[in-house]
Parts: sequence; C-alpha cells; structure tokens
Amino acid sequence: MSCGRPHETPCTEVIAAMGAYVDGEVGAEEFRLIAIHITECPPCEREEQAYRRVQALVVRAVRRPVAPEALRAKVRADLVAGQAGDPATSE
Ligand SMILES: [Zn+2]
Repeated sequence: MSCGRPHETPCTEVIAAMGAYVDGEVGAEEFRLIAIHITECPPCEREEQAYRRVQALVVRAVRRPVAPEALRAKVRADLVAGQAGDPATSE
C-alpha cells in the first residue's frame, strides 16, 4: 500500500487512522495531515473512498433498522401468490 512517493505521513499511519478520519473523530492536525496525504497518494485515496462507501451503508442501515414497508408488502404478496399458485394445494 504505497504509491512509491515520500509523504509527510506514512501510508501505514493514514490507513490505521482512516476509520476515525472518515468518522470525523481525529484531531484537527491529524485530519489535515491525512487530508493532504490523500491528495498525494492514490492508493490511500481509494482506501478513503472505500471507507466512505462502507460508512454510507452503515448510516443507511442505522436509519432503517426494519425492512421498508414496500419490501414487506412485496414479501407478503409473494407469499400469497406462492400459496395460490402451488398445484399441490389447488384442489
Ligand atoms: Zn498513502
């Protein structure tokens, strides 16, 4: 995990702090160093984007702890259709 160029902050430190960085849980100075590093280092930028995708999924999952009503309605409809269309129970 390195683009081969020297950085003020080593890639290993950036990757180790990436979760906290994406969550906004790092200090201002660490945030600045990581932000600079990401602009200089494509592998770490990809890592940051991967973290942000995961974070977005987590946020969505937390906002919707139960299945959406449309999904539940579809599951109910599929169950009813499955029962009605089953040849073994149609007689
Ligand atoms: Zn890096």
